Amino acid sequence: MSSHPYTERFEVLRAIPEKGRDESEILAELAEMAHEEDATWETGQCSGTMYCGDHEHYGFMNQAFGLFAHMNTLQRDMCPSATKFEGEIIAMALDLLNADAVEDGETCGLITSGGSGSIAHAVLAYRDHARQTRGITNPNFVKPETGHPAFNKACHLFGVELRTVPVDPDTTVVDPAAMAEHIDENTVAIMGSACNYGYGTIDPIAGLSDLAIERGVGLHVDGCLGGFILPWGEKLGYDIPPFDFRHPGVTTISADTHKYAYGFKGTSVLAFRDKALRNSQYFYLPEWTGGKYCSPGMDGSRSNGLIAATWAGMARLGSEGYLKYAKAIFETAFAMQDAVRSHPELRIMGNPSFCFSFTSDEFDIYHVNDFMRTRGWRFNGQQYPNAIHMAVTRPQTQPGVLERFTTDLAEAVPYALEHAGDTPDSGAIYGGVEGGMTDEADEFIRALMADLMDAQQSLP
Ligand SMILES: *Cc1c(COP(=O)(O)O)cnc(C)c1O
Repeated sequence: MSSHPYTERFEVLRAIPEKGRDESEILAELAEMAHEEDATWETGQCSGTMYCGDHEHYGFMNQAFGLFAHMNTLQRDMCPSATKFEGEIIAMALDLLNADAVEDGETCGLITSGGSGSIAHAVLAYRDHARQTRGITNPNFVKPETGHPAFNKACHLFGVELRTVPVDPDTTVVDPAAMAEHIDENTVAIMGSACNYGYGTIDPIAGLSDLAIERGVGLHVDGCLGGFILPWGEKLGYDIPPFDFRHPGVTTISADTHKYAYGFKGTSVLAFRDKALRNSQYFYLPEWTGGKYCSPGMDGSRSNGLIAATWAGMARLGSEGYLKYAKAIFETAFAMQDAVRSHPELRIMGNPSFCFSFTSDEFDIYHVNDFMRTRGWRFNGQQYPNAIHMAVTRPQTQPGVLERFTTDLAEAVPYALEHAGDTPDSGAIYGGVEGGMTDEADEFIRALMADLMDAQQSLP
């Protein structure tokens, strides 16, 4: 797919236009692009990313956004509403994550710009807190290989050594004993996922909690994906093991409001077992000539609109709404897994719930993906081994989507068997599955990815 599909249709602005353009013309152009792009997921055949997909809810949140979009959350004297919204979003998240079980700390949180932002602030907090309280100047952080790349990015940015631990190929989760081997006196924290992005499986948080306490290190639970849906699954009676502050070793949890809390992209919660950890990464510059400066995290100015929209969305849905949507999502996900299991050639990886991945021991699973793409499905792809995953969201719970998945899959399997000797067209790339990148040399892949990034930031 071209990075610049609109070049032929719409004017390309190579500089600020001399004369401002007509408002209705601009809006018509935007609407044309938006409607075409919405069509890529409105069918319900796109994994993850469009967690809500409800235009009515979007419309409501847009009203909230519009009221506050122009306000800067840094200027709290002008918008104390930001303090109300942030405090209440954090309180709702802490309540859902069972912060009331904490007796040994003062629970609190931080609103960030997304999952990567929450993870980055967690790594920064662990690094700085360990420097302040344990004198660690050569920090390391330990993650299972299934931990999100945002941990690698954060460690890279903050000069923290990252140690990666293989997972059990059958269960796709990490063994705490294997994690233990990588912890030493310079380890600031370890992490586990609830659930991981690739397989949708939950690491043994109870065991990791025991390990973290025994070795005196922090434990971050990455609930970016699962944080706002697994708790409802547990309440609905599904087999979801506790992963939150009920475990005494859990010191931080990331949970993305812009995923299963159905907010707009651009907000996430980082929840802390204790204030001291969060406050260790506050940034102060009291001596600056521009005035005494302090910010709670890495960002400077932020729009209060996103925070208002997130807050309003959560208030509108309530527990009843979240439970209702979670039930539909879990039911759809388990029914889709049944459809996969009905084919002996396919194998579900580990023990997932709302997000599941599958592979095949008989053919390259990307043949299934190739076929499903022709039917309009967009899965996420994994590698080592090749697998495809489906994070079930609200658009998949529409009538007819499960049936389409079942019938299309039943045709995809014979197609894959027939083409088992060929090289599939698609391969694994985060966020989607793209053409032929899986088994090329590392340098070649980097060059391709750099070209893609270039194309995405440039004019046609
Ligand atoms: C989405 C995700 C992240 C990162 O989130 P962004 O919002 O894309 O920055 C981290 N961990 C998991 C498990 C995720 O699914």
